[in-house]
Amino acid sequence: MATNLIQIDNDAEIKKRLDAERARLRKIAGLDQSAHFHRPGERAFTAEERSRVTILFGGFTWKHEDLIRAVFQGCGYRCEKLPVPNVAAFQTGKEFGNNGQCNPTYFTVGNLVQYLQFLEKEGIPRQQILDNYVFFTAGSCGPCRFGMYEAEYRFALKNAGFDGFRVLLFKDSDGIKAASGEPGLKFTIDFGFGMLNAMHLGDVLNDLIYQIRPYEANQGETDRVFHEAVDGLREDLKNRDSFEIEQRAPDWAKPKFKSNKILRNTFNVFGKWHEHMWGKDYLNALHAAREKMNSIEVDRTRVKPLVKITGEFWAQITEGDGNFNMFDFLEREGAQVLVEPIATWVAYLMYQAKAHAISKWPVNRPHRNPEWYEVKKNFANYIGLHKKLWGLGAGERMWNFFYHRTIKHLGGITHHLAPQTELAELAHPFYNQFARGGEGHLEVGKNVYYTVHKMCHMVLALKPFGCMPSSQSDGVQSAVINKFKDMIFLPIETSGEGEVNAHSRVQMALGEAKVKAKAEFEQCHRSTGKSMTEIRAYIDEHPELKRPFYQVPHREGVAGTAAQFVLHVNDRINKDARFWKRSRVRVEEVPAVSGD
Ligand code: SF4
Repeated sequence: MATNLIQIDNDAEIKKRLDAERARLRKIAGLDQSAHFHRPGERAFTAEERSRVTILFGGFTWKHEDLIRAVFQGCGYRCEKLPVPNVAAFQTGKEFGNNGQCNPTYFTVGNLVQYLQFLEKEGIPRQQILDNYVFFTAGSCGPCRFGMYEAEYRFALKNAGFDGFRVLLFKDSDGIKAASGEPGLKFTIDFGFGMLNAMHLGDVLNDLIYQIRPYEANQGETDRVFHEAVDGLREDLKNRDSFEIEQRAPDWAKPKFKSNKILRNTFNVFGKWHEHMWGKDYLNALHAAREKMNSIEVDRTRVKPLVKITGEFWAQITEGDGNFNMFDFLEREGAQVLVEPIATWVAYLMYQAKAHAISKWPVNRPHRNPEWYEVKKNFANYIGLHKKLWGLGAGERMWNFFYHRTIKHLGGITHHLAPQTELAELAHPFYNQFARGGEGHLEVGKNVYYTVHKMCHMVLALKPFGCMPSSQSDGVQSAVINKFKDMIFLPIETSGEGEVNAHSRVQMALGEAKVKAKAEFEQCHRSTGKSMTEIRAYIDEHPELKRPFYQVPHREGVAGTAAQFVLHVNDRINKDARFWKRSRVRVEEVPAVSGD
């Protein structure tokens, strides 16, 4: 019988035909795609480079940055903070970056490129810049464009001629660990506790400076004193001796710690923890800073609208062109600014992790629908979730405890962290707390929280142009404003241009807030039945009332600092009057003693 089969006795030919047929079938099935994108590999930052490589970072307030740099330096790193991003940085970011990014990317990326260009102009060869500097920043996987920041840094650096410049991500261990397994940037206990202190101190000092400066009696005194106070704290964070049990233990115990690693590490963890939180040197530094700040003279009778700042993480923190220098502008216009601490954001992340764990547990639990008598399975379901919740709950409590403890040691007048459960509950009718990205439900939650508790006269939300989560928040804020009629809320989209327009919109809303603050003050003042001359005379007689850390008890329903203060001074005048009246009565009741 005749056959059409072709005899192939060459292996290479068989392989060639097989590959061709495979390619044909893959094409039909639509499996042919271009090569998958992989993040380009990057040179590691190794331990042996520590002594010559400078870590660059930025994006916070100058208080945070000075303290963070001190922690890096105290842990043996070379570290420099980048300047506050300005409009030129924004333009540099646009020139070298992709189109359609949100403006914090342009500002921060451009700022880094600008700094590297500055180093080059100073005479440092480009190769030396690539070898001797790295940039340290936070990374994320989204869901908003924050997930693209790392790629944007690399892209812009490449376009600007700094291809190969290393960007270390806080979340990305690959970027931090060297191929040898010895990382250049090591997260030690000293580094972790140092950073915790630096972040909390930065937040508290930032809150204090905006509380004190609008009321300073001598212009410029607050800035000067705060720089001195931050310098003192910085020195402590930088020069603090690291606790090592092998050095601190009595001589007879030293060999035991030397030979037993577990024992040594356990004692070191607790010893370092104690030293960083309760150590004499640290508390002395805090108290010295507090005394310095308390020397500023303040006049709290000035009536000022209290403006709460919310919005996107970076836009609400930066103190420069990135938010149109909004804090300076507000203070110049006669307002008191209530800034947002970074600690709220960290507390939000922990709270959200807990809420997500609870909501996902029905699908994540190890045993589906166990019978009631299957004790082991029921227990596994229970303990699996609760282990997670206990861990996160402990983290939350420690975070709050250390934050509020820092407040206590630095004068006790800083605003406490807003409770996350309440923020979520207040926001939830308008903004689902599980809608992730950016500040999530926080923008709406804070707006309602500060309004219903009468903790400010106006809420100003600063958000970058085109910010995805903030645009969502703005969408629902109109429903929020409709519900809370006395709310003064203004969203401002920040970008590299349009400062005059933004300032004029703020001025208009601030006008309303000023009226509100004045009316509140007049009502409170009238209720005292005393003239301002009388009140001021009492303040002059009691100089402690001119100290920033004098504790004015908070009255529910009153937002303004001057209104709160006048009510309190009135209480003190009345109390003194009652005291003198009682003393007079007692003196009159004592029978006169005859002279004989
Ligand atoms: S929160 Fe907004 S501005 Fe920030 S990275 Fe996400 S989209 Fe951009």
